[in-house]
Amino acid sequence: MDFSLSEEQLMIRDAARDFARTELLPGVIERDNLQKFPTEQVKKMGELGFLGMMVDPKYGGGGMDTQSYVLVMEELSKIDASCSVIVSVNNSLVCYGLEKYGSEEQKQKYLTKLTTGEKLGAFCLSEPEAGSDATSQKTTAIEDGDHYILNGTKNWITNGGSADYYLVIAQTHKEKKHKGINAFIVEKGWEGFEIGPKEDKLGIRGSDTHSLIFNDVRVPKENRIGEDGFGFSFAMKTLAGGRIGIAAQALGIAAGAYDMAREYSKVRKAFGTEICNHQAIAFKLADMHTSIEAARNLVYKAAWDKDQGNDYDMSGAMAKLYASQVAMDVSIEAVQVHGGNGYVKEYHVERLMRDAKITQIYEGTSEIQKIVISRGLLRD
Ligand SMILES: Cc1cc2nc3c(=O)[nH]c(=O)nc-3n(C[C@H](O)[C@H](O)[C@H](O)COP(=O)(O)OP(=O)(O)OC[C@H]3O[C@@H](n4cnc5c(N)ncnc54)[C@H](O)[C@@H]3O)c2cc1C
Repeated sequence: MDFSLSEEQLMIRDAARDFARTELLPGVIERDNLQKFPTEQVKKMGELGFLGMMVDPKYGGGGMDTQSYVLVMEELSKIDASCSVIVSVNNSLVCYGLEKYGSEEQKQKYLTKLTTGEKLGAFCLSEPEAGSDATSQKTTAIEDGDHYILNGTKNWITNGGSADYYLVIAQTHKEKKHKGINAFIVEKGWEGFEIGPKEDKLGIRGSDTHSLIFNDVRVPKENRIGEDGFGFSFAMKTLAGGRIGIAAQALGIAAGAYDMAREYSKVRKAFGTEICNHQAIAFKLADMHTSIEAARNLVYKAAWDKDQGNDYDMSGAMAKLYASQVAMDVSIEAVQVHGGNGYVKEYHVERLMRDAKITQIYEGTSEIQKIVISRGLLRD
């Protein structure tokens, strides 16, 4: 077993760490307060190659492995989980989905722009009545000559207002249930495509989350991804990889909160000594560090499985389930270590605590991860 990272992976990790400290940290509290989308930062992340990391260089991607992607997600999330979710959606849902299942024309037309950051992507599966139960899609895409006519509403779409290209899941053949679902590439600005109001969120407030409304939007047939009826499989296969990115986001949030708690405990004094000298605080740090290491091993193992071509449904689900719980536990303890200072924005840990919660909800709630894991366990 070799736990070491390659020279290239270390370089990428250090570049992301450096970027997060110099470019993300300065405005992160303001963006969180104002729910301000990090437009400039996203542009720079595109220039650094963080938006299409795993895509083949012939489509403008970085040709990197999943491990490198996970390292970048971890470093960005230590400082700004709003930025890292933008990276996660663009890389592991939109770019991955298009590269793996899109046609050559779709890759040339859309993927090449998404990998460079020239355009941003969104992944649109959830609806007001279809969250965990994604099979009950109410959005319809009905054939009409060489087009589909799209009608319905999507909910909670990350990058909803800022994206240029949207991968939209919709029901075409209702009688075939989930086997009648399709996935489409929809461009911002097409007639009948309206962006709903921005959600006012608990955490990841810099990322913009919107509902989307489709009123008789005409989508050319060549924008359907894969064979007729492939849409649900497309969504599930893509989300299986996406979970590794969210698991890495959770890991980063936990690691960022822990780093701050550790540093703070070495300078804050109570009862005549630094608080880290009180065993109750030192033991908190020990527990935090141990659970982060365990989460890191699960996340890296899931990335390794994907890179090896192994099945990663279960390892990705386990990584997300566990790392998201660690993100919650560690960030709550980090606030506790900071005492009153932990409760105010200036010290960052309260934001990480608020950001942590979403990792237990999106791309499949923790309950849904347990369904995936238990089904895998009981398969044969
Ligand atoms: C900030 C944010 C960003 C998001 N970004 C996107 C995005 O970019 N694209 C997108 O498509 N979606 C996105 N989502 C949607 C997200 O994936 C869903 O919210 C999530 O899948 C849960 O669906 P729901 O909200 O409808 O909850 P529900 O499905 O209504 O679940 C409610 C509760 O019931 C539990 N539950 C449901 N079914 C079961 C079951 N069978 N067994 C046990 N427990 C169950 C759930 O775990 C949960 O605790 C985002 C959500 C948020 C909040």
